[in-house]
Amino acid sequence: MSLKLCQGPDCHKYETKDRLKGPAGSKTFQTRRRSKMYYGKGNFCSMQCYNDWAEEFSDRAIDHFGRLTEPKHLTEQNAWQKKYDWDSNYENRFYVYHNSITNERRPLTEEQYRDSNYTLNER
Ligand SMILES: [Zn+2]
Repeated sequence: MSLKLCQGPDCHKYETKDRLKGPAGSKTFQTRRRSKMYYGKGNFCSMQCYNDWAEEFSDRAIDHFGRLTEPKHLTEQNAWQKKYDWDSNYENRFYVYHNSITNERRPLTEEQYRDSNYTLNER
């Protein structure tokens, strides 16, 4: 089982018992190591560490990967979303593609609903 380090720049500054490590007499507060973390795609031990990272690095990350300079538009061509609903007896699910611009609904099979590559959106 490999342990990952929390990527929060200030993780070691939160003085919790579980962060205090090392031999008696020379213990230090250390960045958390975990086999699994649940925030920021498994990179952060807590929302606090995730937010610390965002506060310090968001501008650089956005500039690196591309800052939006124009608003994005949801149009008839890319407004299809998969949804499910229940029949009137609340016994059976049914699946639809719903276009939130035109309000058109098209039936889907459960297999199409679960297939992340199946889409009506034009890319
Ligand atoms: Zn952390």
